[in-house]
Amino acid sequence: MTTPDSAQTIVVAIDGPAGSGKSSVSKAVARALGYGYLDTGAAYRALAWLVLEKGVDSEDADAVIAALDDFDYFIATNPDEYVVRVGETDVTEAIREPRVSAAVSAIARVPAVRSHLVALFRSIAAGVDAPGVVVEGRDITTVVAPDAPVRILLTASEEARMARRSAELQDDAAATAGAELKKRDQADSRVVDFLNAAEGVTTVDSTELNFAETVDAVITVIADTQSPVS
Ligand code: C5P
Repeated sequence: MTTPDSAQTIVVAIDGPAGSGKSSVSKAVARALGYGYLDTGAAYRALAWLVLEKGVDSEDADAVIAALDDFDYFIATNPDEYVVRVGETDVTEAIREPRVSAAVSAIARVPAVRSHLVALFRSIAAGVDAPGVVVEGRDITTVVAPDAPVRILLTASEEARMARRSAELQDDAAATAGAELKKRDQADSRVVDFLNAAEGVTTVDSTELNFAETVDAVITVIADTQSPVS
């Protein structure tokens, strides 16, 4: 078996708001194409988890920066084996807890946290042993991989995003989840603009698409980039 030349690993950069379905769509696209998959939000969540474990105030930027020293982070890039660890602890489930979602925006707005994690994402993506890697988050098309050959903004109307998130939950939980999602998007969009496509970024609007159609739409954008229609 030959080792792929990492210089030829295609980066597919996908940004979008919470609830746009970008994680599940990105994972399915990576699976379909035999690419790696890098969920960048997981690192912000894992750092928020560590900050909470330490009992540090997530609004205290200096304390959050200090926590970076103990942030021994691992994420699998195989879309079929999603696992996230901090040190020896498997935090794959824990980073999805509401307490982590509530704390994550505060740590994600600290510039030193962002620069540390951006460097980490570039090095993880460069180490992926596959023909391509789908990297998804909020600032991938603009900051992490602005030169990626494929850059996509995956959007959906706020109603569609909330309806999708709520469909997985019961009445009260659904209402709370919707409100929290909106609050998190508002906080996050003050730091990174992931609601408007930057120049050269293709928008895929999934409001009227089901899951399979959205995956197909993204794969079509990738295919068009590789053999552009003249
Ligand atoms: O994608 P997910 O919702 O899991 O991201 C969790 C949080 O991580 C976001 O709410 C945002 O604060 C932060 N994030 C970020 N930049 C990224 C990915 C996530 O600031 N590229």
